[in-house]
Amino acid sequence: MSINKTLVFGHKNPDTDTIMSSIVMANLENQLGNSAKAVRLGNINKETEYVLNYLNIEAPELVSALEDGQNVILVDHNEATQSADNIANANVQKVVDHHALNFSVSTPIYYRAEPVGCTATVLYKMYKEHDVEITKNIATMMLSAIISDTLLFKSPTCTAEDKAIAEKLAKIAEVDCGIYGTDLLKAGTDLSDYTPEQIINIDSKLFEKDGKKFKIAQINTADLDSVFKNKVYFEAAINDEIKKDNLDLYMFAATDIINSNSKVITLGNDSKVVEKAYGVTLDDNTALLENVVSRKKQMLPKILENLD
Ligand code: MG
Ligand code: MG
Ligand code: MG
Repeated sequence: MSINKTLVFGHKNPDTDTIMSSIVMANLENQLGNSAKAVRLGNINKETEYVLNYLNIEAPELVSALEDGQNVILVDHNEATQSADNIANANVQKVVDHHALNFSVSTPIYYRAEPVGCTATVLYKMYKEHDVEITKNIATMMLSAIISDTLLFKSPTCTAEDKAIAEKLAKIAEVDCGIYGTDLLKAGTDLSDYTPEQIINIDSKLFEKDGKKFKIAQINTADLDSVFKNKVYFEAAINDEIKKDNLDLYMFAATDIINSNSKVITLGNDSKVVEKAYGVTLDDNTALLENVVSRKKQMLPKILENLD
């Protein structure tokens, strides 16, 4: 692959926003006359697979390592810990994101982040600003990303803008948001083909603070009990990760998308931070966090605040 062709990708352990926004951003670049290609840094999850099948399109190509000097555009992330290996030696041209800023670069670049629920919401606005057509397929991709990231508008990360744009997209995509969205989220709760080790890695993100390393992993479920009947297997897999990656804390959150709660398993030397952060008492390494569904808004900031 030529290092001059720009690769567009989102974070490791890709979610629906990361995959769809990579494709949507690459298309925008190509429409504007820049040569870009969407790629991915990991396996496609079941929810994203649902969208790809619905649209009958292929997943972006899997890329494991970047060459030095590779031109890249980052979507749906900015932190190096969540990006491609060798990102430090790549040439980051643009970033389009909706996460807290933890990024620095020595040359001026296009950096766009907005405090909205989804990268695709930002991309919708960029399409409008450049007067680029939003086709039915592109609209379906953007809509799927917004539904995924906002848990069908129920997450506290969801803004009025996400919802208004999703409604416009649903018209172009010719889908009923509620029906399509429920099917999409439900597809993502199917864990039947995965080992416990795979389940904790479907959507895990690595963070660092003052030399401490921790991971927060999240899965969606409509049935917490069925997830937690495998608790001992998850604990074994989590302890392996802690050892392998030298982590101070691992929080695995199973988010109940029907009742909008999360039940967590926390392990590692700093596992008690969860008690302090949420005013809960861990019971055999687990706790129910009422009304907590968003890693970005309700998990990560609380952990960062209380980790010392
Ligand atoms: Mg994401
Ligand atoms: Mg996102
Ligand atoms: Mg997510």
